[in-house]
Amino acid sequence: MSDLTVQLFTLRVHLFNIDPNAFSKKAGISPKPNRLRVVNVDGRNGLSSKKIIGESAHKAPKIIDDIDISNINVLKLKIKEYGKIIKDEPIENAIVILKNGTVKRCYGSLNGVWPNADLGDELKGGIVIHNHPIGSDNEYSFSNMDINLFVDYELEMLQGIDERYIYQMSRSDLTVDEAIPLIKFTEYDSRSETVRGRMIRMGYGYRRWKHEYR
Ligand SMILES: [Zn+2]
Repeated sequence: MSDLTVQLFTLRVHLFNIDPNAFSKKAGISPKPNRLRVVNVDGRNGLSSKKIIGESAHKAPKIIDDIDISNINVLKLKIKEYGKIIKDEPIENAIVILKNGTVKRCYGSLNGVWPNADLGDELKGGIVIHNHPIGSDNEYSFSNMDINLFVDYELEMLQGIDERYIYQMSRSDLTVDEAIPLIKFTEYDSRSETVRGRMIRMGYGYRRWKHEYR
């Protein structure tokens, strides 16, 4: 939704005492009140690959799975499976494994997806797998939006996938990649090294590896 749409929506709900759920359903948007709160809050609008952009009109999230998250092997396989599902999507997608095992898929745009707007507090402590599409502002690692979302929503793990790499920040797996020696540095590595340094300072795990799904 644009800022104007949000304002009009809020105004109509207040003035006419409209049931926001019914209104949202009619308008084809998510009825979560949180979506109003997160728009343009300090520019922390979601998982943008680079630029700070506002949340725009997008498809409502869908429940796609329900898994036993206490089984670590199932969890690992599912994380891989979800990455494969979204890796070639032309827009950002976020597949969110909630703490109760429900799995929801959120839909964004070329340069952003907003699981925080779509799911609100339900997102807290979850695992998120999202893609950076070809042709987006992707820098082959996490954007500042990604890092903010990981911190603000206390995500257990956040994974990003693009056409070359999978990158991961984690609260439970505190493994951090070795620094890339300068002699081996390529155009794909600069952002990843910056993120790696920040993760070390913040006390989280960070890894990035080439994936084989090509
Ligand atoms: Zn991202």
